[in-house]
Amino acid sequence: MPLSQPIFPGATIGVLGSGQLGRMFAIAARRMGYRVHTFSPQTDTPTGQVADVEVTAPYEDLAAVKRFAKAVSVVTFEFENVPAAAAAAAAEIVPVRPDGSVLHVTQHRLREKTFLAQNGFPVPPFKPIQSPAQIRSALNELGCPAVLKTAGYGYDGKGQNKLTSLDQAESLAKETSCPESILESFVDFERELSVIAARALNGDFVHWGIIENTHRNHILDLSVAPADLPPSIEREAIEITRRVLEQLNVVGVLCVEFFLTRQGRLLVNELAPRPHNSGHLTFDACVTSQFEQQLRAVCGLPLGSTELLRPAAMANLLGDLWLDGEPRWSSVLRMPEVKLHLYGKLSPKSGRKMGHLTALAASAPQAVKLVSEARDSLKQT
Ligand code: AMP
Repeated sequence: MPLSQPIFPGATIGVLGSGQLGRMFAIAARRMGYRVHTFSPQTDTPTGQVADVEVTAPYEDLAAVKRFAKAVSVVTFEFENVPAAAAAAAAEIVPVRPDGSVLHVTQHRLREKTFLAQNGFPVPPFKPIQSPAQIRSALNELGCPAVLKTAGYGYDGKGQNKLTSLDQAESLAKETSCPESILESFVDFERELSVIAARALNGDFVHWGIIENTHRNHILDLSVAPADLPPSIEREAIEITRRVLEQLNVVGVLCVEFFLTRQGRLLVNELAPRPHNSGHLTFDACVTSQFEQQLRAVCGLPLGSTELLRPAAMANLLGDLWLDGEPRWSSVLRMPEVKLHLYGKLSPKSGRKMGHLTALAASAPQAVKLVSEARDSLKQT
């Protein structure tokens, strides 16, 4: 079969990674009659619980990756920190979409920011940090405050330190072994936005418009669509996103996270080459969810409509909600326009994403109000 032939229902899709993104991808794929195999070092995972087959092996076990790839028609991923060698091993056997080169750029903050800056995308000023001694001089150049982020394996604010003075930089330099890092200016943003988009094998591009996000402790807390923004900002954010997908030659879904500064400037914070937490509301609120779209793109199918059927808001449910026992599910299950999603994770931990709620309403502010009330009602009193 030529590789560019569409992969139709009945085929098996391989997913590298096994978290909630893979779980929702697997739900969308199984709904359309595909089989799903997942590969990760863990067992009884959010993805594994709904996949047809859960393969458990380290990503470094390239023989196991190749055996996994032999059993599927295409490999995709739900987690960008899969080692590039694992994606390359799978690509010797079947198409990997998006290509491993997309992983390579986006799994490393320094490579990602360098790619963005070199291609003329707006990013906060940044400096590479290779040794503790460089922190002070970089902070001198960028000015305070700034954020020091490890280059690899960063997400949800992990590996981040806000630096507010040269003294703080000095003491951090003394106590840290300083893995390769990036120092970037702290952005006094007005709002955080994201654009999730998909690109098909034939280059077709679709997006879900602008989603507005709020974070708590660096972790996404709430997302709402549609965001209320001047049309010029919308157009610019979508155009940046389209160019990012094209430059990276993405086949699949990619999210661009933006800061909107108080001066009305868009800056790219981060890229995620897969469905994104801020797009979970597309599952209940759009004609085609980000998960079904990833499936369509990686299978070489036409893309589905991204139309938003109703304004919607999503609130994450973190492990902290379980501190006083099981949340009161009965309270949200009584709300007819609130949808409950749980990821099947066995141990709730503080800051761990256990599930989310999506509320549908007549307007975006009403959806935010409803989803916030729904989440509050889960707390045991
Ligand atoms: P990240 O893991 O880089 O997406 O960061 C998580 C969150 O930390 C972002 O969504 C922001 O709320 C905050 N953050 C990250 N970088 C910066 C920055 N340079 N300036 C201000 N806030 C930041």
